Amino acid sequence: MTRSDWKEICNEELCALGIQNFSALEICDVGRTANGVELAAPTFDLLGNAVKLIDVLEWIREYEVRTPILINSWYRDPSYNYEIGGVARSMHLTCGAADIVKVGYEPYQVAAMLEAHPLSDQFGIGNYNTFTHIDIRGMIGRSSPARW
Ligand SMILES: [Zn+2]
Repeated sequence: MTRSDWKEICNEELCALGIQNFSALEICDVGRTANGVELAAPTFDLLGNAVKLIDVLEWIREYEVRTPILINSWYRDPSYNYEIGGVARSMHLTCGAADIVKVGYEPYQVAAMLEAHPLSDQFGIGNYNTFTHIDIRGMIGRSSPARW
């Protein structure tokens, strides 16, 4: 799938679901990177996982003070994940994980907010120096919770 096909088809789907704050290219870039790596789009059956994650991201966006959620990384295609040394069963392969920044908040504060979510026992939450990893592992049949 080309980058423009992905943008068009995925954004149409997100729009049909009333999703306005997240877009196709945040979920996944497609095409060749500056380093010559070819990034493939996720299969459409994975988009449902992205939509579940978006519910959580919208919740975090509204928490305390509404501020934008910046996406560092969301879907990774398997060959790219392998190339960067990602773990083999990374939740990023499922569309159900994202590395995020909530503007105006430190990553540990975002991790603490996620703990307050009613479904937090189904989450994987990773607290890093510059971002917070959130995934919905328990909502897609993986064992949960996980914290690191
Ligand atoms: Zn991550």
